[in-house]
Amino acid sequence: ENKNLFAIFGNPVEHSKSPQMQNAGLKEINFNGLYQKHHLEDGNKIKEVFLQSNYKGANITVPHKEFAYRNADEVRGIAQKIEAVNTYINENGKVIAYNTDAPGFIKAIESFGTVKNVLLLGAGGTAKAIALALQEKGIKVTVLNRSEGKLDFFKKENILAYSWDDFQAEDYDLVVNSTSAGLKDEYLPCDREILEPILKKASYAFDCVYGKITPFLALARENNCEIKDGEDMLLFQGLLAFELFTNTKADNSVLEAMRKGLRGE
Ligand code: NDP
Repeated sequence: ENKNLFAIFGNPVEHSKSPQMQNAGLKEINFNGLYQKHHLEDGNKIKEVFLQSNYKGANITVPHKEFAYRNADEVRGIAQKIEAVNTYINENGKVIAYNTDAPGFIKAIESFGTVKNVLLLGAGGTAKAIALALQEKGIKVTVLNRSEGKLDFFKKENILAYSWDDFQAEDYDLVVNSTSAGLKDEYLPCDREILEPILKKASYAFDCVYGKITPFLALARENNCEIKDGEDMLLFQGLLAFELFTNTKADNSVLEAMRKGLRGE
């Protein structure tokens, strides 16, 4: 039988909701395919393992996105600047790589309406995708991170980037938390004394963490911001990957099927 195989590479990967989301989409369009979890230890082997496993497409999650970027045969679109990819496609034996986190984030914040000036907390892999996606859209973005080390990437792209020590605040309409603070703990992504005055003036707050009201979102809500968690970002990065996997244009029925799949409904 020639079922099309897809996978998500990660370490750990057990918790991933991508299989239930992607398989729901495949089922919705009667695509003869199966999307599975693939635990990968060594990110340097990702291309080799992808090809040997006969995958037609794959997603890549923590901690392999940079390895996947470096090992691809060809990198397309904004991923070239981000230097990290979350999607692989097998095109006639060549591994083509994309980053759908960046456009997925942009689609996720469309529900807020017009956004002009963003404060982005965190400077990790997700922050790179978000910052460059905003910059490409002509939306001003400032990065604020706990430590100095990861800021050079943003500075070389002409993005304002501060550590907590040298931060100079402006007025922002949207504040985004791309740190993992609040995921498994009750920490704010930066000092309350810095954050609260900013949230008071902002209109919107977005957290990349999904399925929970983090301390960041709770504080934003207290300060009258419209809030949103990371579910739509996960959904839209998945939808855009799905379109690449199946070479189809996904309509609303696919989106809703994938959302239900993601929620386990
Ligand atoms: P990284 O490990 O690459 O980056 C983590 C960043 O968070 C760093 O800038 C780090 O600062 C900062 N940080 C970590 N803990 C704290 C803390 N307690 N206080 C302040 N800052 C902190 O992670 P990723 O960028 O890959 O992922 C970040 C988050 O985004 C995760 O929670 C992940 O689940 C979520 N995510 C959601 C997606 C979605 O589709 N919804 C997609 C991808 C990610 P420092 O440099 O000082 O160490």
